[in-house]
Amino acid sequence: MDGRNGTRIVRSGCFLCHGGCGIRVHVQDGRAVRVEGDPEHPNSRGYLCVKGRAGIELLYHKDRLLHPLKRAGARGEGRWERISWDEALETCAAELKKVIGRHGPLAVTGGDGTKADEVAWIVDLFLLNLGSTNRTGPGRAQCMFPRRAASNATWGNYYTPDYEGDPRLIVLWGDQPEISNHNSILGYKMLDKRRGGAKLIVIDPRRTAAARRADLWLPIRPGTDVVLALSMMHVMIEEDLFDRAFVERWSNAPFLVDAETGDLLRDSQGNHLVWDKDQLLPVPNDWPGARPALCGAFDVHGRVCKTVWQLLKERCAQYTPPKAAAITWLKAGDIVRAARLYAATKPAALAWGVGLDQCINAHQNGRACAILECLTGNVDVPGGNMHPVPCHRGCRTFTDAFGETLPEEAYRKQLGADRFRLCSGPAAKRYANNPAVLRAILTGEPYPVRAWVAIGGNPLLTWSNAKEVYRALMKLDFFMGADLFMNPSLQLADIVLPAPTHFEKERLMETQGYGPFGNVRCVRAVEPLGEVRDEFEVCGDILRRMGMDRNWPWRTVVDFYDERLQEAGMTWREAVEAGGAFDRIAYRKHETGHYRKEGGFPTATGRAEIYSTVWRRNGYDPLPSYTELPESPYSDPELMKEYPFVVITGGRLPNYFHSQHRQVATLRRLHPEPQTQIHPEAAARLGIKKGDWVCVESPRGRCVQRARLFSGMDPRLLHVEHGWWFPEEEAAAPHLYGVFRSNANTLTPNADPFLDPAFGGYTLRGFAAKAYKVTEEQATRIAWEEAREAREETLTPSAR
Ligand code: SF4
Repeated sequence: MDGRNGTRIVRSGCFLCHGGCGIRVHVQDGRAVRVEGDPEHPNSRGYLCVKGRAGIELLYHKDRLLHPLKRAGARGEGRWERISWDEALETCAAELKKVIGRHGPLAVTGGDGTKADEVAWIVDLFLLNLGSTNRTGPGRAQCMFPRRAASNATWGNYYTPDYEGDPRLIVLWGDQPEISNHNSILGYKMLDKRRGGAKLIVIDPRRTAAARRADLWLPIRPGTDVVLALSMMHVMIEEDLFDRAFVERWSNAPFLVDAETGDLLRDSQGNHLVWDKDQLLPVPNDWPGARPALCGAFDVHGRVCKTVWQLLKERCAQYTPPKAAAITWLKAGDIVRAARLYAATKPAALAWGVGLDQCINAHQNGRACAILECLTGNVDVPGGNMHPVPCHRGCRTFTDAFGETLPEEAYRKQLGADRFRLCSGPAAKRYANNPAVLRAILTGEPYPVRAWVAIGGNPLLTWSNAKEVYRALMKLDFFMGADLFMNPSLQLADIVLPAPTHFEKERLMETQGYGPFGNVRCVRAVEPLGEVRDEFEVCGDILRRMGMDRNWPWRTVVDFYDERLQEAGMTWREAVEAGGAFDRIAYRKHETGHYRKEGGFPTATGRAEIYSTVWRRNGYDPLPSYTELPESPYSDPELMKEYPFVVITGGRLPNYFHSQHRQVATLRRLHPEPQTQIHPEAAARLGIKKGDWVCVESPRGRCVQRARLFSGMDPRLLHVEHGWWFPEEEAAAPHLYGVFRSNANTLTPNADPFLDPAFGGYTLRGFAAKAYKVTEEQATRIAWEEAREAREETLTPSAR
C-alpha cells in the first residue's frame, strides 16, 4: 500500500507491551519514518499508547545493540569486544555443551523478562530441547500464571472480560488496564464501556485513574483479596443474591464431601454423589429426576457428609463484612455494596490483574475470584467473562505440550518441584521456582546450575532480592543474553546478542487463551539494523551446532508459524493478510456438547469447581482460604514498630514497561526519576516534602526514590516504583547503571515465609518498610553502600 510522499505503509503490530495493538508503519527508502495506530485493526482500532508512538525512536536509538559482543574483561568489568555471529554461536554452543556435559541439562536455566514481544515460548522451547525443565522468568509464578491456573482449575479454561459483549458492570480487581495492557485486553475498551454507562467497581489499594471514575472504589490492604471475595460471597449467599440456577446446574456446589476426609463422595462407577431431596438418599449427580440439595449436612452410611455449598457457606461465614473489614482495611458497608452491585448487575465482567499474584495468598486469590464469577453466573455470556474458541493451538501451548514429552525425571528434579506443585514438578510441568534456581547456583543444592540463557530479561531489576540475583549471576560459568539494549543484568554476561524490535521481525502476538481476538500479527517493516537477528533463528542455530536440533526442524520463525497454523487452515502469509489468526467467539458452550457431549465444563467433575479437585489433589485447600501476611501489623506487630509501612511495589507506569525504555528520551521526559508514593499525613509526620529524596528501608535492604505525595491511599501504605536503572550512568559493576540505587527489589523477600505455597511466587506487595528523608548526598552514598554490599557478598566463600 502507498502512503503520502511515496512512503510504503506496512500494517503490523506493536509489541512494546503485551497489548499487540495494530500499527501502520510508514517506510521511506527502507527507513521507518512514522508509526500510527491502525484504525482497521479489529483489536485496537487505531489506539496507540505513548510507548507505541515512541517506537521509531526506540528502533533507531543510538544505544541499540547491533552486533554480537563477547566479554573482554572480568565479569561485570564493562569491557566488551565485538565478535562475529559465527564466533558468538560457536561460543554459546560450546559453553552450553560443556555445562551439560559436566552437570547435565538441568544445569542450564534461563527465561525471558517481559520483553517487547512474546519470546518466552522461544527460550522455553530452546531449554526444553536441551532437556532442561528449569525455565524461569519474572512473569511466571509471580504474574498471570497463578490467575490462569486458578481459572483453569475452576473452569477448565481461562476466562477473560468480554468488553465487546457490552458489560453493564466492570469489576477491576488489582488491575489497571488503562495503563497496563495485557494480551489484547486493552484499557481503552474498558473506558469506552464506562463512558457508555457501564458501572465500575475498582478494587485497588491506590486510587488509580479508573478508581477515580468508579461507582465504588475499595482501597484494599495488599494481599487480603481472598478475604474480600469470601465476604462478598457471604453477602450473596446470605441475601440469596447468587445465580442459583447456574450454581445448581453447572457448578459442583451440590456435590457431597466427606466432612472428615475432605473427599468428594463417589459411587462404585466413579459418579459424584449428590443428596436427593425427594428420596433422602445420595444419588449420582446426573441421576434422572434427582433434585439435589444445595445446602446441608447428611448422614451417608454413618459418615457426616456436607455439600460443597455448605462448606463454602461455612468458610464465607468466617468473613462477615465487619470481620473482613478489619482484615482488609475496607468499610463493611462498601463490601456489602460491592457484593450487591456485582450480584445484581448483568452482565458483569471481572478483570483481574497482577495485584492478585504477588503474595502468599496468590493461589487462593485467583480461586476466590473465579468462584465469584460462578456465583454471579457471568461466565461465557456476552459482556461477562468469556473464553473464545481458539483458532489454533498457540505457540505457548505448543511449547508446554512439547515440554510434557520430556521424561518424568526431568520434572521430578525441576527446581521447586518438591514444594510448589501447582507450578513446578510432574503435576504442573511448567516453571522452575526462581528463588530455588538462585540457591542452586549459589550452593549447588540440590544440584548445580551453571549456565543462564536470557532472552529479553533483566533479572537484577525484575526478580525479587536483587542482591542475591547479583551474587548468582556473578557465580555462573556461562551467561548468554539477547536484547535490544545493554542493561545491568547483561553487563554480567559472557555473550550478548543483538535482538530485533517489532519493526524488524515476524511474530504472532500470542494472546490465545487470554483475549477474544487471538493472535495478532507483526511483520517485518524494515530490514534488521546492523547484525540484528531473530531470536528464534539464533536458538535454532545454537541447537544445530550442539547437534541437538532433532526437534527443531525450522530455519525461520515463518517456517514454524506455517506449521503451527496448519490446524487453523492458514499459512503465515494468509495470517498476515488477515491481520492475525483470530479466535472464534461462541457463548454458553457449556450448555452444548462443546467440551463434553453431555454439556458442562472441561474439568475433572465436568462442573465449575467451587471445590477444586486440582488444588486438593496437590495438597492445597480446595476452598479459598486466607493466611495473614508474614510482615503485617497483625502477624508481627513488634517488627512493624520499626518498619511501620506496608509496601506495594510493581504498580505500572504508562510510559515504561517494567525495566524497559528508560533510555528513550521522549518517554523518560514524562517521568524522569523514580518516585515513591507516600500519603501527605505520613510525609508531614516524617518531615518529607514533595520531591525530597526518600530512603525506603525494609529488613532486607534500602533504595532511594523521590517522594511523591499521594492522598489516594491509606496513610499506612507506601508505593515504591519498580524497574529503575539509569542507562546514562556508569556500566561497570558494582554500579551497573545505578541498579542498586532505586531498585524496589533490594527491599523484597524471596524466601520463606514469603513464598506462595502452591506457585512459589514471592511477595512483592504487602511487606514491611520504613521511610525517611535523605539529602542528595546521602542518597548517593546509600546507593554505593548497597552496591558495595552486593559486591562484597559475591566475595564470601559461599558465593565464590
Ligand atoms: S498498549 Fe502496548 S502494544 Fe499497544 S501501543 Fe502501547 S505499548 Fe504498543
